[in-house]
Amino acid sequence: NLGAMQDWELRVSLLIDHAAREHGEREIVTQWADGSQTRATWASVRRDALKMVQALQRLGIKPGDRVATLAMNHGRHLVAWYGATGAGGVLHTINPRLFDDQLDYIANHAEDRVLIYDAAFQPIVDRMRDRWTTIEHYVCFDSSDHAPHFEDWIGAEDGNAEWIEGSERDPVMLCYTSGTTGNPKGVLFEHRSNMLHTFAALMPQCLDLDARCAVLPVVPMFHANNWGFPWAAAAVGAKLVYCANNEAANLCKLIREEEVNYLAGVPTVWLSVIQHCEATGQPLPPLTKALTGGSAMPRAIIERLMREGIRIAHAWGMTETSPIATIAFEPANFDSLPFDEQVSIKAKQGKALFGIELRTVDLDDPSKVLPRDGSTSGALQVRGPWTIKRYFKAEADAAPAPDQWFDTGDVATIHPDGTLQLTDRTKDVIKSGGEWISSVELENAAVAHPAVAEAAAIGVPHSKWDERPILVVVKKPGMEVTGEELRALLAGRVAKWWLPDAVEFVDDIPHTGTGKISKKDLRERFKDYRLE
Ligand code: ADP
Repeated sequence: NLGAMQDWELRVSLLIDHAAREHGEREIVTQWADGSQTRATWASVRRDALKMVQALQRLGIKPGDRVATLAMNHGRHLVAWYGATGAGGVLHTINPRLFDDQLDYIANHAEDRVLIYDAAFQPIVDRMRDRWTTIEHYVCFDSSDHAPHFEDWIGAEDGNAEWIEGSERDPVMLCYTSGTTGNPKGVLFEHRSNMLHTFAALMPQCLDLDARCAVLPVVPMFHANNWGFPWAAAAVGAKLVYCANNEAANLCKLIREEEVNYLAGVPTVWLSVIQHCEATGQPLPPLTKALTGGSAMPRAIIERLMREGIRIAHAWGMTETSPIATIAFEPANFDSLPFDEQVSIKAKQGKALFGIELRTVDLDDPSKVLPRDGSTSGALQVRGPWTIKRYFKAEADAAPAPDQWFDTGDVATIHPDGTLQLTDRTKDVIKSGGEWISSVELENAAVAHPAVAEAAAIGVPHSKWDERPILVVVKKPGMEVTGEELRALLAGRVAKWWLPDAVEFVDDIPHTGTGKISKKDLRERFKDYRLE
């Protein structure tokens, strides 16, 4: 009893077919680790991906088999996204910054059969080879010293092939989340979920991509579906610019050389770009659009970018939501609002994209749904067609039927107009005397000080209050600020009892593989800290 429209399975190969047909000449530029550059086009990416389909079939790869990559961002990695999935395989993007035990666990858990890696990660391959028992074939993206060179491997094929067909509900990609406790967990995207995410994310207020965009996604291709860029850029024929060196100086140079107008990265990337420009006395690079997310975006950075006329999209999401779920949404009266209020809107995590539903529930009693009153904090839950149902090979659903609400592990408030405001991660909130303190708000307030390069608030044990916040701060080179000055600054912005009991100055704050502040490592560093 179907309707009477055409039969098209929503598979990602439709995207590359479209890109090659309608935007075939639009470029994909790669700056390699040694500084050299190569240029491809959407048409050549499609050609190479079809060759890769043949090369994988020659290795005996069948639909559903996992094909892994261990690589940074570059044009050949993009070919592998379309080649592995076009062969009916499941692309497993491995995060090279994981620890050996995690690398061991995920490749074996995924049962990867092929691994395509950057020569820079040869030491990882050498270390892990004996432990990775399911990988039969190794291919190297950029060297032929230890494994076939990717270009030779696909170069042996004629590209006279077709995408493997199948259901839109087939798995397409496997992405493991870092897992702050226990083993990493695999999120298995479907062709359909990625396609629906692409359609929704393309919205003007979200990714806001079109053919005029030249995008430099600093977010790694091995992380969280690369925020959907390999798929969405193909749908509109945007130019992609990739680089291995994400130092601010290099980013600024590449932006100018390649006329990049769109940068996508976590807040620390923006922070480093702004600080680099300040330190060297140059203006910010000529961008028009910015996408950020992945961790709390300090208001001061948003304000700075907006003052430069950069249109900023601030998204919230996670690997489990493909990843974009909400976007800082410009309401009907946005243009007539005072600048400060516009900044406040962009500093929150925004409203649900069409296709996503949100709610908060009581942290202790999840059966109690909380009001959207802008003040009550609770556990954030989401659902929708690009939200996870079950982790790869898990016994039970992560989003149980019939309601399918998935618990995000984030703590948030929802405002009456539906705007999401993240308080913290469940594991990062600081609980003082039974009340929650938002580490995110303390950090945002602290980085507004001109001498603060980076700040992180963590809870440390306290005899009377269970936990009290301390603020860990990295100063900008050559600049001075005292703990008392910072506490005075914060006093104007947060409740008095939220004020950190101590401010500790350090040389560096630990980061995760994707550049987020690693609270876990920081707490570990301060585990013996005693408040006087
Ligand atoms: P990982 O746990 O490896 O960082 P994800 O990239 O999937 O994995 O991280 C998702 C988490 O990042 C969210 O649960 C949330 O805590 C945080 N996050 C994402 N976007 C934002 C945002 N805009 N503001 C604050 N936190 C965010």
